[in-house]
Amino acid sequence: MIPAPFDYVRPASLDEACQVLGEAASSGDDVKVLAGGQSLLPLLRLRLAYPSALVDLGRLPELRGVEDRGDHVFIGALTTHDEVLRSGVVRERIPLVALATATVADPAVRHRGTFGGSMAHADPAGDLPAVALALDCVFVVRSGEGEREIPAAEFFVDYLESALEPGEVLIGVKVPALGPGWGFHYEKFHRTAQAWAIVGVAAAVRRSNGTIEEARIGLTNMGSTPVRARAVEAAIRGVSIAAAGSNGAHDPVRDACAGADEGTSPPSDLHAQPDYRRHLARVLTHRAIGVAGR
Ligand code: FAD
Repeated sequence: MIPAPFDYVRPASLDEACQVLGEAASSGDDVKVLAGGQSLLPLLRLRLAYPSALVDLGRLPELRGVEDRGDHVFIGALTTHDEVLRSGVVRERIPLVALATATVADPAVRHRGTFGGSMAHADPAGDLPAVALALDCVFVVRSGEGEREIPAAEFFVDYLESALEPGEVLIGVKVPALGPGWGFHYEKFHRTAQAWAIVGVAAAVRRSNGTIEEARIGLTNMGSTPVRARAVEAAIRGVSIAAAGSNGAHDPVRDACAGADEGTSPPSDLHAQPDYRRHLARVLTHRAIGVAGR
């Protein structure tokens, strides 16, 4: 289909982008930021969105790149999935981001789609929001009023709805670099390679002397936002890692993962019913912890 008509603006600086977006916000115009266009353009074509103008961030190199800042890695919002994957800093310092990004779509989408776009779009079926939630990332946002930071736990508000206010641009994400002792895994169940997650699990596990000391689990596609599996995180603390992933009669890790779907409200769609997704959440969380805690 052909999108409804819209104006197109390509600012030459972040200040100009904030000014355009600020003016649109105060006059109540529905203006959308355009990044890689991989999610927004299909919505326009299907006429599920019909903004009066698009503000294309494509000429703002300051929003691009990966920077190691010691206790965290800063990923510019406009950094493409492909650039994230090619970054040695990402692979070494924040491997969970690399593991999840490698499962996003196909090379063509990964060359256009951006890290910030995936977050701002706030699709609970996207692989990266669950990672941001599990790692307690911090979102850095700019508007004409200045800069503010939003913790991941407050950023994903509802289905396709983030905490970004009209007039605000996501400029980047601070991803905490968890230290030695942590292991990571992203487990994604999808119908075909390169497809969206039916359910996904992002796991970070800290172990010491064969015991799980701390775990952080983010679930993909188990509700209207990504969800943190807090019940599993609590139940798994102090459990012997030797048992993780075992198929023996008594597996305390599996017992802990029985609560993986607690507090979730998984969707029903062409691919799966809620009960099946709940089952997947339990099985995939068990698997993810087994690999991350190895
Ligand atoms: P856009 O489409 O340009 O924008 C998306 C939304 O975010 C818009 O509302 C826009 O206004 C807003 N936005 C973007 N950047 C900013 C910013 N800096 N500040 C404020 N608002 C902003 N994703 C997965 O996670 N897993 C998959 O398996 C997967 N499969 C896909 C398969 C296909 C065929 C396609 C087309 C997409 C797939 N995606 C998948 C989505 C892909 O990851 C997109 O990159 C992502 O959803 C949006 O990024 P974008 O840069 O294209 O954003």
